[in-house]
Amino acid sequence: MKSPSPPNKTLTPLSAKVVQSLRQSLIAWFKANGRSLPWRETRQPYAVWLSEIMLQQTQVNTVVDYYHRFLARFPSIVSLADAPQADVLKQWEGLGYYSRARNLHKAAQLIRDRHHGVFPTQFDDIVALPGIGQSTAGAIATFALMQPRPILDGNVKRVLARLMAIDAPIQEATTAKIMWPLSARLLPDDPEAAWQFNQALMELGATCCTLKNPDCSRCPWQKTCQAYARNLQGELPVSVKRKPVPHHDIGVAVLWKDETRQQCLIALRPQDGLLGGLWEFPGGKREADETLPACVAREIMEEIGIEIAVGAKLTEIKHAYTHFKVTLHVYDCLYVSGIPQPKASQALQWVTLDEMSAYAFPKANNRIIDLLKSNPAMQLTLC
Ligand code: SF4
Repeated sequence: MKSPSPPNKTLTPLSAKVVQSLRQSLIAWFKANGRSLPWRETRQPYAVWLSEIMLQQTQVNTVVDYYHRFLARFPSIVSLADAPQADVLKQWEGLGYYSRARNLHKAAQLIRDRHHGVFPTQFDDIVALPGIGQSTAGAIATFALMQPRPILDGNVKRVLARLMAIDAPIQEATTAKIMWPLSARLLPDDPEAAWQFNQALMELGATCCTLKNPDCSRCPWQKTCQAYARNLQGELPVSVKRKPVPHHDIGVAVLWKDETRQQCLIALRPQDGLLGGLWEFPGGKREADETLPACVAREIMEEIGIEIAVGAKLTEIKHAYTHFKVTLHVYDCLYVSGIPQPKASQALQWVTLDEMSAYAFPKANNRIIDLLKSNPAMQLTLC
C-alpha cells in the first residue's frame, strides 16, 4: 500500500473539459442510482432545512421516520416556533445531538419574529440562523431556493479528498480552504443541474465513496479519481488523531417518593450544555475512592438537598458520547428527608412511570424507564 505524499496546500486546477465530464458522469450516475428520499420530493425550504439538520449526524434510514413525524407535529415554521421547547425535544427524542433541535427551535422563532414566518431567501440571512453553517446553508439554497451554492459536509470532504488526493486532515480549517473552491468549481451554474449535482455528490459519499471499503467499481469518477489511480483510498481522507476518550462512572438514583413506589423524581438538565432541556434520573460522577452508593447519596444531597436511602443496584448501562463514555450505575433509592431543590437543574418533578412518556429523556435514561416498566412489581429491599 502506498503512503500519501506530504500535505498538498494547493490543487492543480481542473480543466473545463474535466469539470464538464465530472458533472455529467455524476449526474447520470445519480439519475440511475439516487435513492428516492422524501426531502428530495420537495422544494419547501422548511422541509429541506429540517432534513439537512436531521441528516447532519444521523443516517438516512433513521431520519426518515423522524422527518415525517416532526413535520406532522409541526407542519409549519410558525407552528414550530410557537411550540414549547419540551415538545420539540420530545419529537427529537432518540435522534441525539439535541443542540440541533434547540437551534432549530430558536431559528424558527427568529424566522417568525424577523422574517414574518417565511424562510429567508438571502444567503447571509440563512447562514445567520442558529445551527446553520456554510454547508447547510449551501444545501438549503441549492435544494429549496434554486440558488446554486457549494456544499462541504463530511461526506463531500471525503469524496473531494479522494478525488484530488488531498492529504491534509479534513477536519482542519486550512483543508476546508482548499476544498471550498473545488466544490464551487465543480458546481454547475444552472439551478436544476446544481440541484442534481449537489444531491449526487452527497449520495456518492453516502453510498459509494464510503469511509470504509469504497465501491470504486461502480463510481462514476473512477477514471479521474487520484486516490483510485494511486491506490490511496484506504489512506484518504487523512483525519486528525483523536485523543483517547475518557470514561466516567455515574451514580444514578431511581428515587421513589415513598414506599408505594408510585412516583419517582426526575430533573430537567440545564439549558446550555450536553443534553440541555432533557429530563433525567438524578445523579452524577463518582469521585476517586468513593463507593457507588455513597456517590449517589452525595450527588442527591449536593444537587437536590435531600437525604435518601440507597438500595439495591438495578442495572448498569454503558453509553458513548462524542468526547467521553459513561457507565450509569443505577440504584433503587427512597426519599428520607428534606425539601427537594433544583440546585443543579432547571426543575424537578415527581412523576409516575406512565407520566414519564410525556417527557423527553436521553437514550440511556429511556433504557432505565424500559427496565422499570418491564418490571412493574419490582420490589427491592433497601439497605
Ligand atoms: S473512485 Fe473510489 S475513492 Fe475515488 S471517488 Fe470513486 S469511490 Fe471514491
